[in-house]
Amino acid sequence: MNTFTLKNNVLHAENVALTQITENFGSPCYVYSKAALSQAFERFSAGFKDANHLVCFAVKSNPSLAILNLFAKLGAGFDIVSGGELARVIAAGGDPKKVVFSGVGKTAEEMRAALEAGIFCFNVESASELIRLNDVAAYMGKIAPVSLRVNPNVDAKTHPYISTGLKNNKFGVAYEDALDIYLQAAEMSNIAIHGVDCHIGSQITELSPFLDAFDRVLALVDALAENNIQIQHIDLGGGIGICYSDETPPEFTAYAKAMREKLGNRDVKLVFEPGRALVGNAGVLLTKVEYLKPTESKNFAIVDAAMNDLMRPALYDAYHDIQAVAPRNEAAVNYEIVGPVCESGDFLGHDRNLALQEGDLLAIMSAGAYGMSMSSNYNTRPRAAEVMVDGDQCHLIKKRELIADLFANESTVPNS
Ligand SMILES: *Cc1c(COP(=O)(O)O)cnc(C)c1O
Repeated sequence: MNTFTLKNNVLHAENVALTQITENFGSPCYVYSKAALSQAFERFSAGFKDANHLVCFAVKSNPSLAILNLFAKLGAGFDIVSGGELARVIAAGGDPKKVVFSGVGKTAEEMRAALEAGIFCFNVESASELIRLNDVAAYMGKIAPVSLRVNPNVDAKTHPYISTGLKNNKFGVAYEDALDIYLQAAEMSNIAIHGVDCHIGSQITELSPFLDAFDRVLALVDALAENNIQIQHIDLGGGIGICYSDETPPEFTAYAKAMREKLGNRDVKLVFEPGRALVGNAGVLLTKVEYLKPTESKNFAIVDAAMNDLMRPALYDAYHDIQAVAPRNEAAVNYEIVGPVCESGDFLGHDRNLALQEGDLLAIMSAGAYGMSMSSNYNTRPRAAEVMVDGDQCHLIKKRELIADLFANESTVPNS
């Protein structure tokens, strides 16, 4: 779908000119397309139509209330990794009964909140967590529904920081230990075994790692059945990649077909936790060129967005396409697109050929996932505004932070 397209030589989100958005709401500014978000969710779900399934949007990829609310209305569940995300889902009108709770460090307080809310399932990541969850549930007189997150030890062939399914990382329980821990869980008074879970990483652009992981999960499900533990759902996590430049991630339909084929006629619900694939290409970050700074070796375009607004380039050396919002019919120059933050790692793009003047507006593409959600106030920079476009309407869904708010919770130490 062409969500962000040039019309009359100005980049639009649906029917709204991006220049209009910064005029109204300032820069930098995140912009999302409601149609692109809805279509991504609908397309992902379509592959599992008339199959017993639940799509749990991974909240950490973009926790905006407006986005959670939109997905909730479309029937989504949610994958959360903290008590804060649970509160957001509830505030956004999400259904706690469709929430799965992942994460290696759940506190007792977070467990209580999730049990109170009546979530769908805890994705338990260690034997110790299981013991704590059983204790917390017993104290509350509740039964905790669980899956064990198993680490299938498959190589997701993605960036090491976002690969989670190999033995040497902190996530899940070792595949070899899983059966044993399930047998322990089966003995616990306040634990109910509901599923098996895995999540092998993010920005995965091939089908094979998903299939390999699913094979291992199915072998475990069979071993559990031999031990009289019947599984009601299999959670295959998230991780489907998107196209940032020239990647060719699996199509949703191909992914769904492969997963359904592998499942065969087993009577279990399939749960998925996509994040990036639903929001990544539905958002852009708008930023204004403050200065053009030619130097002996490089031409810098210094823009008003920085690594605190979009961390992925600095953190993973990630590539984001950068487009002029109103392209000039002039000779392009090779630019380093950098922010004002005092770090040499503060870049948004290297080697970009663009025709620019100071004051021009740029769109950092594919910024809908892990953009705003990983932003910070580094350098005491207020976080950007967020806008959702719906046809020819635009809605401010998050106000730009005020500088005074950034230190409102701080105080100096009195003299004594
Ligand atoms: C981050 C995460 C996801 C979402 O990953 P995407 O690559 O954005 O789809 C899903 N499940 C778990 C447990 C995660 O940590």
